Amino acid sequence: MEKQSRYDAIVIGAGIGGLTSASLLAKQGLKVVVLEALERVGGCCSNYDFGGYKPEVGAVFIILKDLYKNYFELIGRRLEDYVDFKLLDPVYDIVIERDERYVLPRDFAAMEEVVRRINPGDVDGYRRYCRDAKAIFDAQKAGLDFPMPALKDVYSFKTLMKTLRAVNTKALAALPVAARMAPRNMDRVIRSYFKDERLQLIFGWENLYAALPAHRANGMFSLMTYLGHEGYYYPKGGMIAIPQAMAKICGEYGAEVRLNSAVKRIMVKNGKATGVEMTTGEVLESKVVISNAHSRVTYLNLVGAANLPSWAVKTVRRQPCSIPAPTIYLNLKEKVGAQAHFTILLNRRRKFDDLWWEFYDRGLLYRADDGPMMVSVPSYSDEGLAPEGKDTLSAIYIAPYKLKYYEWEEIATDWAWELAHSIERRAFPGLTAKIESIESVPPTRLERTLNVPEGAFFGLEMNGTNMGPFRPRYRSGLVGNLYLTGQCTNPGGGVPMVMTSGIIMSSILMQNWNKL
Ligand SMILES: Cc1cc2nc3c(=O)[nH]c(=O)nc-3n(C[C@H](O)[C@H](O)[C@H](O)COP(=O)(O)OP(=O)(O)OC[C@H]3O[C@@H](n4cnc5c(N)ncnc54)[C@H](O)[C@@H]3O)c2cc1C
Repeated sequence: MEKQSRYDAIVIGAGIGGLTSASLLAKQGLKVVVLEALERVGGCCSNYDFGGYKPEVGAVFIILKDLYKNYFELIGRRLEDYVDFKLLDPVYDIVIERDERYVLPRDFAAMEEVVRRINPGDVDGYRRYCRDAKAIFDAQKAGLDFPMPALKDVYSFKTLMKTLRAVNTKALAALPVAARMAPRNMDRVIRSYFKDERLQLIFGWENLYAALPAHRANGMFSLMTYLGHEGYYYPKGGMIAIPQAMAKICGEYGAEVRLNSAVKRIMVKNGKATGVEMTTGEVLESKVVISNAHSRVTYLNLVGAANLPSWAVKTVRRQPCSIPAPTIYLNLKEKVGAQAHFTILLNRRRKFDDLWWEFYDRGLLYRADDGPMMVSVPSYSDEGLAPEGKDTLSAIYIAPYKLKYYEWEEIATDWAWELAHSIERRAFPGLTAKIESIESVPPTRLERTLNVPEGAFFGLEMNGTNMGPFRPRYRSGLVGNLYLTGQCTNPGGGVPMVMTSGIIMSSILMQNWNKL
């Protein structure tokens, strides 16, 4: 063990959760250091250098932009001074099987024309869908539309009451819609608006994120398509522009962000966290340790089973990870001819839904043409992400963490080429001839590089029994002076949700600071 330094707070990980809490606590005057294992910030919300191209690692776009406002307001900065968000329009280029293709404009009236062209009988349903989804969206927006209180008051009963009062009238309009959608499955909700099978898919494919067939996914997922019309965004410079801005703000408030600095263990003395030991042997001491790593990594690897009661070890181990998010990356020596930032490759509903039972649950891979894919071309929105005249393309697909008959590393490259040929057949003729290099990141590789168990999309599963009180707590009940932030805590995965986690965690810590 080498030198010792003393901090108020050590933050493990420069993901969105770690950077949110580090910057907010530094603004409160705490001496903070962020220790990041990788050579870049952002964790699952980042971009990496792949031979001069800069594809994303993980998160591909911004939803619920209003949630970002809370962080920037609390940190005393203007979002627009730090990140340049580009509105995505068209929202999606949807390809259903091979020959049916629909580019979805963001504008509601223009989208109505697309619906009319597909099936005039569904225009009324589309209007009802928009009206209902807007009621929910407005209620959520009203809850965010008032000035943020001081950091330590964010997580308080008084603020909760103020929020409830602010959403009061909007919530009344949203309540009957939510009461109708939430108890039903997504398939039923979508069918209550649209009769045409193609429109049912266009407005109802986001069960992909829930890793469930549409007739098992919660009806509230039907709102996702509407959000795209309210506005999806992409930051100039790629998704990494967000954590880079946050790291800059950390620096402005005096917090250190140390890259290439992996933590080996959290030191625990008399049941309390006292600091960390790095993989280099260096020891840093602090009043509190905040872990932005996955909860399983935090407790089982960093705290260590020996410092935990056996029931806690079992509980942490048993908490299921969300589905993995395997991805392939293509560097293209010519433009691919994308018509939108995202091209969504879908199959007819039965094939799409049966994929979960016939292949995913059994640890099998399907024929590449039979699986959905979310293809993004970041250089469509920001040309600087690929060399001039070229494109960077990535595709997220569905596949299990563990394969029944093969190791991922044995088949990852062959499978990547199969997927590339499928993208070529379904959406971009001539694609494979344009490939300069290809990289396959199956779940096992994401697990290794980002320290996210099972290469999970959202850390832990996001359903009823893993949400709310069942998710790991911000203030550890197992180790004193240990706090957790990030996608494994509430409200869950997704960049704006993780920011919210960092805000709430910091608020709770500041409420307790004088008692430490
Ligand atoms: C493929 C994919 C696509 C996604 N798409 C979207 C999207 O489009 N929109 C969206 O909002 N969300 C999306 N998400 C989810 C979103 O990216 C995550 O929920 C969010 O970025 C997680 O942030 P975090 O701070 O909780 O954790 P992470 O991003 O996992 O950050 C944790 C950090 O801790 C570091 N770390 C771990 N262990 C140690 C250690 N021992 N020592 C030092 N450092 C350590 C890691 O290197 C990492 O940088 C996607 C996720 C994936 C994987």
